[in-house]
Amino acid sequence: MGKIPVGLVGATGMVGQWFARCLEDHPWFELEVLAASERSAGGVYGDLVRWVADGQMPEAVKRKKVQMPEPAVFADHGVKVIFSALPADRAQVLERQLASEGFFVFSNASAYRMEPDVPILLPEINAEHISLIDRQRTRKQSGGYIITNANCTTMGLVIALKPLQDRFGIEDVVVSTYQALSGAGYPGVPSMDITANVLPYIEKEDDKVVDETKKMLGKYDGKGIRPAPFSVIASCSRVAVRYGHLETAVVRMGSAFDEGKVISAFRRFRSRACAGLPTAPLEPIIVREEKDRPQPRLDCDAGAPARARGMAVTVGRIRKFQDRLRFYVLSHNTVRGAAGASVLNAEFAKVRGYL
Ligand code: NAP
Repeated sequence: MGKIPVGLVGATGMVGQWFARCLEDHPWFELEVLAASERSAGGVYGDLVRWVADGQMPEAVKRKKVQMPEPAVFADHGVKVIFSALPADRAQVLERQLASEGFFVFSNASAYRMEPDVPILLPEINAEHISLIDRQRTRKQSGGYIITNANCTTMGLVIALKPLQDRFGIEDVVVSTYQALSGAGYPGVPSMDITANVLPYIEKEDDKVVDETKKMLGKYDGKGIRPAPFSVIASCSRVAVRYGHLETAVVRMGSAFDEGKVISAFRRFRSRACAGLPTAPLEPIIVREEKDRPQPRLDCDAGAPARARGMAVTVGRIRKFQDRLRFYVLSHNTVRGAAGASVLNAEFAKVRGYL
């Protein structure tokens, strides 16, 4: 069977570049159409893009023409599956239009995350949320739908919280973040603001972490998502790191625990829903027991096999304090927090018969 042709909007940006990287030689998907704004449309990808993702620009995209993200362009290339790395304001209009014309949209933007009929899907933790797309109006009319990722910070956090929620229960979570520069896109934060500095504010991020965590760890009841009942408090900061969002989480646990049981819950965490998917890491959570790990520079690329590089989250400094657990969690913001996660969602949608 041939590969499924896919399109990418926002192809020239930070997340777009990581999509090109994550889709390189993909066994199921062929990156057919690259699209960006009218500033880029008509140019050749290799000439336009200042490559900042890892390694070299994939050969397959170098000589491709960048196009306008118009439904007719995708249709002409036989593309139904579209990965979106658009800014939220543009996504608000274009993603809805694409879904209403029958396209399957895998989005990284915040525009539709909190819509009641749109899943923030992460099949390792909430595979059943995919059923929400059957409730989307566009799905009923044209077959098209939108599936989103969470914001890049929430992705690492929810993976670490899932085994704790399942095994011990969670009463509340307090999280503080140290987020990489690449999370702000390219060129991102001005160097004068961030050099030798930490910025204790990222627009709307604290609220996104709270709302998206509760939705993702909520229960699908056949009609919608009932958000997880625990409270989340988030304080998000930008630090001068290239890739990898580091976070500290302090979790008031719902039942008795000790450090050994928590480590074992993290290590044993597996996803049956993702078994055999090309971009799924064999071990979604890696535990580091050294006293100074995880670190963005050393642990950001965690994940095996090779296609799942950057898809595992790393936890460390796991300690008990009275009824609270505290630990650090690190995730690759443009892979696990964006492009890689979207590709995994599309793989999951395929095996569930949604492509
Ligand atoms: P970015 O580097 O600024 O890239 C934005 C992309 O969108 C570029 O390809 C740009 O094309 C395109 N674009 C802008 N306006 C457009 C328009 N009117 N029509 C069509 N294309 C347009 O941003 P990014 O960091 O990749 O983020 C993309 C999205 O992913 C955002 O919604 C962001 O919040 C989300 N996200 C980012 C991360 C991360 O770690 N960076 C993680 C998770 C989610 P031109 O080059 O032609 O302007």
